[in-house]
Amino acid sequence: MGIASINPATGETLKTFESLSGAAISSAIDRAQATFEQYRQTEMAQRSEWLHRAAQILLDKKEHYGKIMTLEMGKPIAAAVAEVEKCALVCRYYADKAAEFLSDRLIPTDAGKSFVRYQPLGIVLAVMPWNFPFWQVFRFAAPALMAGNVGILKHASNVPQSALAIEEILLEAGFPEGAFQTLLIGANQVSQVIEDDRVKAATLTGSEGAGISLASAAGKQLKKTVLELGGSDPFVVMESADLETAVATAVAARMINNGQSCIAAKRFIVQESIVDQFLEKLTARYVALKVGDPMQPETEIGPLATPSIVHELVHQVQTAIEQGGTLVYGGDPDLLELDDSLKRGNFFPPTILSDLPLNAPIVQEEFFGPVAMVFRVPDLDAAIRLANHSPFGLGASAWSQNPAEIDRLINEIEAGSVFINSMVKSDPRLPFGGIKRSGYGRELSEEGIREFVNIKTVWVK
Ligand code: NAP
Repeated sequence: MGIASINPATGETLKTFESLSGAAISSAIDRAQATFEQYRQTEMAQRSEWLHRAAQILLDKKEHYGKIMTLEMGKPIAAAVAEVEKCALVCRYYADKAAEFLSDRLIPTDAGKSFVRYQPLGIVLAVMPWNFPFWQVFRFAAPALMAGNVGILKHASNVPQSALAIEEILLEAGFPEGAFQTLLIGANQVSQVIEDDRVKAATLTGSEGAGISLASAAGKQLKKTVLELGGSDPFVVMESADLETAVATAVAARMINNGQSCIAAKRFIVQESIVDQFLEKLTARYVALKVGDPMQPETEIGPLATPSIVHELVHQVQTAIEQGGTLVYGGDPDLLELDDSLKRGNFFPPTILSDLPLNAPIVQEEFFGPVAMVFRVPDLDAAIRLANHSPFGLGASAWSQNPAEIDRLINEIEAGSVFINSMVKSDPRLPFGGIKRSGYGRELSEEGIREFVNIKTVWVK
């Protein structure tokens, strides 16, 4: 496919790009290394000023950047603008907090003085996905730059204009040339970057396959990685829950970003006594969702990012039915009534599947689109067992008003986060990441900024 912006709502190719040559990649790494030598000496206050300026640029031009995202990957325009605002928030958060997170930590021992000092590593490679084209990058870039590292971005091949815009924002904010560079390269060129001695670490957000590939290449070079991979988050609803709020949140949690979010709720695990009510209410809300042109403010569900995601989802839904699931609603893209201008877009209808046998292999897969799987369970033991019956462990949302149930849900669900009576979301103040096949390491918060630093022990006699 190459590197190109293709409007997923219309199929129109907006812009194509040549991928960089091997020599151009080397020059970019030269520039990054030269910049790092100077940049690591800059005062924290200076970095903070630049990052605050980046936040302001984002806010001043949020409609412009939002439109770039919507045209490249199809998220509804209001969500795209909100994403830009969230990027400004993470910039301000680290601009204000990094000095505190990275100040020397005194630890009394039998030394005259002993402490921990946090120092930058150097060039960090970020391989990023298209689903949150700005947010995924800023949540890496803000802490990395505040820590004194420099960044190289390999963004997904379908969001090159977003990738270039982010580099421009950081330059305009005042960061020196080479502190953050976008390299328009294909996935097959990532190994050249990771194998370069001057690149010290890498972070990847994306699929399991990409994570395995990057982590293997980095492992051969003994370089640290952080991996934020897929998820099939459970959304557990117990009889004691506030059902109306749970259902409304279930729709938002499944439909965020047209269903293409790692932390979207994907498996709805509902206590038997209320499952029929849950399904009825969920279906009513699904029917009312407005699918269409993501540039129109009233649209709730836009197109999926690429045709291959639609094909994959059609295949997964068919497989789920073959393996014993019931199609409650949706399932067939041809049933959508769309304007003629959208006929070549990558649309998929909101879909509900229920009662899949628990041993069906498809239950173990991530559905990356607006498809909800609803399961019925007799009690809390079964709910927790099913929540954990997944290779993934990113987030989990659980609904109950019973303190004993809540306590068990918090303790026993295997995931990087558990949200009680709320949907899973990222917040700059809280660590974000997964366990099991959802990856390792954490982004955001104090934990995130410490992933790519040398945690140096200092002992002074
Ligand atoms: P993807 O195909 O893995 O792509 C992600 C990035 O990795 C892109 O930049 C891609 O480049 C690159 N890439 C692909 N194969 C690679 C390889 N062998 N070596 C090095 N780089 C490689 O994932 P996606 O389809 O864009 O994103 C969907 C997945 O990301 C879902 O599983 C979702 O759950 C996960 N995700 C996780 C999080 C999280 O925080 N945990 C957040 C968002 C998404 P090209 O575009 O050039 O192929």
